[in-house]
Amino acid sequence: MPNVIIIGGGISGLSAAYYLNKAGVRAKLIEKAAHLGGVIRTSTQQGCLLEAGPDSFMAAKPWAMDLIREVGLADQVIGSNDHLRVTYILKHGKLVPLPDGLMMMVPTKILPLVGTKLLTWGTKIRMGLEFLRRPPKAPLADRSVYDFLLDHYGQESIDYLAEPLLAGVYGGDPREMSVNSVLGRFVEIETKYGSLTRGVLAAPRPKGSGSGSLFRTLKNGLGQLVDKLRGSTDVLHGAVESLERNGSGFRARVNGDFIEADQVVIATPAGDAARLLQPWNGNLAELLQSVPYTSSVTLSLGYRKDTFDHPLNGFGFLVPKRERKLMAACTWVGNKFSYRVPDDMVLLRCFMGGDALKESDESLVEAAQRELRNIMGIQAVPVLHSIARWPNSMAQYTVGHEQRLRQIESIVQGIPGLHLAGNGYRGIGLPDCIKAGKEAATRITS
Ligand SMILES: Cc1cc2nc3c(=O)[nH]c(=O)nc-3n(C[C@H](O)[C@H](O)[C@H](O)COP(=O)(O)OP(=O)(O)OC[C@H]3O[C@@H](n4cnc5c(N)ncnc54)[C@H](O)[C@@H]3O)c2cc1C
Repeated sequence: MPNVIIIGGGISGLSAAYYLNKAGVRAKLIEKAAHLGGVIRTSTQQGCLLEAGPDSFMAAKPWAMDLIREVGLADQVIGSNDHLRVTYILKHGKLVPLPDGLMMMVPTKILPLVGTKLLTWGTKIRMGLEFLRRPPKAPLADRSVYDFLLDHYGQESIDYLAEPLLAGVYGGDPREMSVNSVLGRFVEIETKYGSLTRGVLAAPRPKGSGSGSLFRTLKNGLGQLVDKLRGSTDVLHGAVESLERNGSGFRARVNGDFIEADQVVIATPAGDAARLLQPWNGNLAELLQSVPYTSSVTLSLGYRKDTFDHPLNGFGFLVPKRERKLMAACTWVGNKFSYRVPDDMVLLRCFMGGDALKESDESLVEAAQRELRNIMGIQAVPVLHSIARWPNSMAQYTVGHEQRLRQIESIVQGIPGLHLAGNGYRGIGLPDCIKAGKEAATRITS
């Protein structure tokens, strides 16, 4: 039976450990932080359930649900309250609802598009012509998301649709993001149909999108999954300071001691993996180092309902870069998911970009209150706040990412016993990270 260590106890590493254990291989998972789960961090304050990192996962990707079922948490799964779903975009200081029928930034319904105040007539006509006239296009080399969407829908659709929507998921810049890695399905549609709208309307709906909620989570928060996985994992807390080759195996130094292994899964952000590999594979380390990461801050604010002066008719809002100060998005938590907020409270979860990292807690709370006053007219004073800083935690798939991945994978294949998993490679969402951990386990056990 192989002797395996897993470096990193986020969801990627925990999933690798779970699937190894399931196949009869007991691995040692080494995590430098005091808690497991990486960026998953659930807590409660004054009866509110707070998610400092991810709050849910996409239902259309099966790997998170598969794992949740396997660990026996299926009865704890709840869906987003999609009947209340309205997302607003800040435009010229006012909250404007996203038109109905958008598939990401691709319009699929005429009337809501015609009626929306989010886009000017120039963009609406351009979207109509895209649908009616655009011919299929021969596959092109990777481009930025910006160039791709500019070509289809023009600048305004990037400023007020694509940029805020993608910033909410990747925290990144469309001018740098790879369209092949981030919007691969739309690239395929462009090749086949030309028009994204025509393609989206013609293509079969992705599995899981027809019924049920778009997003799912666990009743008591995603920490429930981490707690469950912890139970079947052999964990050592400590930073892996170095990883050396040792004959055909590896030797990791943790807390001053050496641990030997035949196989290693590095399930850290790519930059941390690069530092461990640098001493004996500079080439691989350089490629890993070239996967950039962005930083973010989440700030939850709780209010007493009887002091709160806004109807909260939706899931929250996104702030396009053009209009952004510190806040990039705000989720109205109690509407998006049930079981999060007691009846007498209101909970808002604000996302800020890397600029917010250096601010003190006091100035973040003040800035959030100021921006919420300007955007939503809220005068109420929060009775709780909780802040989480996430430096270099969100991988950016920049132009050329796929090619970099192929180079990384080809080098890794030449190093028997080495496996990479994590959000730096083939998907940053929880389902993709779980899939990455599972695939590493499968490679070890097959
Ligand atoms: C604020 C935020 C909100 C998000 N929201 C969502 C969402 O709603 N839905 C969704 O699907 N995804 C979301 N994501 C993305 C998703 O949560 C992450 O991509 C995913 O959880 C990453 O998991 P991971 O295990 O790959 O990495 P991480 O969670 O970063 O875990 C890596 C672990 O490796 C450890 N480590 C690093 N170096 C070492 C070392 N040398 N020795 C030992 N341990 C080490 C770290 O301490 C860490 O615990 C969000 C991400 C963030 C930051």
